[in-house]
Amino acid sequence: MEVLEQTMADGPGLRTSIYCAGCYHHCEGCHNPQSWDMANGHWVTVDELLEIIKADEISNVSFSGGDPFYQVEAFTNLAKRIKEETDKTIWCWTGFTYEEILASEQLSMLLPYLDVLVDGPFILAQRDTQLLFRGSPNQRIIYLTPKEEDVIEGTVPLIKLR
Ligand code: SF4
Repeated sequence: MEVLEQTMADGPGLRTSIYCAGCYHHCEGCHNPQSWDMANGHWVTVDELLEIIKADEISNVSFSGGDPFYQVEAFTNLAKRIKEETDKTIWCWTGFTYEEILASEQLSMLLPYLDVLVDGPFILAQRDTQLLFRGSPNQRIIYLTPKEEDVIEGTVPLIKLR
């Protein structure tokens, strides 16, 4: 796990970005292949992450990696606490598609606590460096709550959870 404070790269505005280790999508051309192996990270508790997140009163929160959905229980616990204890928004990147997540009871446990999901694997043959916050156009910026007001090209209108 790595934490980047006050970054502007992972979603709109200032954000505290949590980069987890562990991703088994193994997309060709991945921006961060060193994150594939879970052993490349170090363990951090939810309480430790919350302390860092709450110490910054301005920044919202982003989950990236790696793929946070490979540690879905821990990220659900963290996201739930963020929602209970702050008014921060949460963006989350994943190599799973939204449909794959919805089809899995296990994976979908995180969705109710996210404001925005950026979904799908990176497809090298479709790489587009002009896209905001994603690498290929199959990846969608899916608004799950109406909390984020910025309309970014490629955004899917608000999607109601089942
Ligand atoms: S989902 Fe993201 S981190 Fe995982 S292999 Fe694909 S591009 Fe890399």
